[in-house]
Amino acid sequence: NFTEILEHVRNIIEPLAKDYKVEVEFVYPDNIELIGDKDRLTQMVLNLVDNAVKYTSLKEKGKKKVTVEAYKENDNIKLIIKDTGVGIPEKAQKKLFERFYRVDKARSRKMGGTGLGLSIVKTIVEKHNGVIEFSSKEGVGTKFIVTLPTGGNTNETV
Ligand code: ATP
Ligand code: MG
Repeated sequence: NFTEILEHVRNIIEPLAKDYKVEVEFVYPDNIELIGDKDRLTQMVLNLVDNAVKYTSLKEKGKKKVTVEAYKENDNIKLIIKDTGVGIPEKAQKKLFERFYRVDKARSRKMGGTGLGLSIVKTIVEKHNGVIEFSSKEGVGTKFIVTLPTGGNTNETV
């Protein structure tokens, strides 16, 4: 049940977002189901939302908001995580899913972490036969879109 995964992530992230002074909004229907690995999918969503909150809190001024939206579309689940954070510079975008890649040392030092988050996210999405895309503008914000087939991975066991 993907809705339960989102509820779980929401319970973890809301207190964190409060500490970071970032507003978070979750929008999803009652019952979205898919075949997949619950722990891995939770890890995937949590990583993306955690990034969104952290890298939005770094913004000095302006609106600080993260929106997490999920819905069913045909045989897919769409998960959209949008933030009004610091954004990702264009030249960093190509490397974003590489292991240990982090955009710049200053922001990384501030936030801790390893730079493994997004490479793990991508692996989890692909293991579920899904696709991950993003668009980002420096100083404006970032949007990640994950498309997951509700039927799960029909090619191999996850
Ligand atoms: P970890 O997730 O392992 O704790 P991390 O967050 O640095 O560390 P990733 O999650 O892989 O590593 O992200 C890689 C880099 O991409 C980050 O260092 C950050 O600079 C940038 N990044 C990721 N998500 C966002 C976002 N929503 N807005 C701005 N920058 C982002
Ligand atoms: Mg991260």
